[in-house]
Amino acid sequence: MTSSQEFIDMEHKYGAHNYHPIPVVLSKAEGPWVWDVEGKKYLDCLSAYSAVNQGHRNPRILKALSDQCDRLTLTSRAFHNDQLGPFEKKMAEVTGFEAFLPMNTGAEGVETALKCARRWGYMKKGVDKDKAEIIVCAENFHGRTITIVGFSTDPDAYDHHGPATPGFKVIPYDDTAALEEAITPNTVAFMVEPIQGEAGVKVPSEGYLTKVRQICKANNVLLIFDEVQTGFCRTGKMFCWQHEDAKPDIMIVGKALGGGVYPVSGILADWEVMDVFTPGTHGSTFGGNPLACVVASEALDILIDEKLDEKATELGAYFMDKLRTINNPDIIDVRGKGLLIAIEFKPNTKHAHDYCLELMDKGVLAKDTHDTTIRFAPALVLTKEDLDWAFERIDKVISV
Ligand SMILES: *Cc1c(COP(=O)(O)O)cnc(C)c1O
Repeated sequence: MTSSQEFIDMEHKYGAHNYHPIPVVLSKAEGPWVWDVEGKKYLDCLSAYSAVNQGHRNPRILKALSDQCDRLTLTSRAFHNDQLGPFEKKMAEVTGFEAFLPMNTGAEGVETALKCARRWGYMKKGVDKDKAEIIVCAENFHGRTITIVGFSTDPDAYDHHGPATPGFKVIPYDDTAALEEAITPNTVAFMVEPIQGEAGVKVPSEGYLTKVRQICKANNVLLIFDEVQTGFCRTGKMFCWQHEDAKPDIMIVGKALGGGVYPVSGILADWEVMDVFTPGTHGSTFGGNPLACVVASEALDILIDEKLDEKATELGAYFMDKLRTINNPDIIDVRGKGLLIAIEFKPNTKHAHDYCLELMDKGVLAKDTHDTTIRFAPALVLTKEDLDWAFERIDKVISV
């Protein structure tokens, strides 16, 4: 049998080195649990960056996928298919937006929102040709395309990738005065994460989402929320903006919309904004394919039927209370919403990555962001007992 180390060596030899994974090689999963090739069991506390909210290999999603595989998988949008319309209708009903535009990955969803905002700026707001400005936040994470990394403030993301796409302005996160100051007559949109996930689960001050909603409205600027990581019950609401009832003009979704088996993303907006797209102005070969539609449709139903929003709220509060009992003077913050939680350590103390390696040994898979933060975001289908199991191990590793 091939060992974990041999698989890791093979990846190293034949694959690009654009990741620094925890050295575990997984080959099996069920619900919130995963197993490595040696048969050791772990609680997955990352859930593919919140793409597996419904749990690994959720049987309802596997059934929808397999039934659709027996019928039709890909048509492109050159033809209609019998799954897209019903799925778009469901997306509109679940989110409260009038229209949906399906893509595949989160970054494509972001690119779609940016194109939509620029088109709206030129076609509706009357911004002069090529003058549109979009405001984003420091420490953002919106994906990896060349335009998106161009407005990242993380050197790993943007270095050696220039020249950056023009037309973006970066302001501090959680700073409404900076937003008001940055807006000009050419500003078409403000794009922001309701909680900054990759930055280390940065939760903005209460009222921030409401305030940016007001500012954008008052200035005729579109508000874009990137809910790729925070959406679909992760933070205790179907979407994170619902904590403050701050409905954006464009919402970007991805990750858990694919139920952990298939990439499905897209944007939602009302027709006032969405009608800027006309045939030929945007598209994707795989976007809106019938397999994606049935998977995403089932993924949505599971979130609703199993009330995973309420579960995330309840279990998240329970888990965060437990994490706050960990005795380690290097911990400066335990924060989060729902089951999107982080422990932050003082800078220049033990690296978060080293804690993650010890957690792995004990059977808990979590991933550090930067040097100082560990994120915990298990599948929302786990139980209190699963969390107790994990906490016992986390406490052993982190408590001094
Ligand atoms: C993961 C993520 C993306 C990018 O999604 P991909 O599917 O990796 O392209 C965009 N925005 C946020 C907030 C994310 O967490």
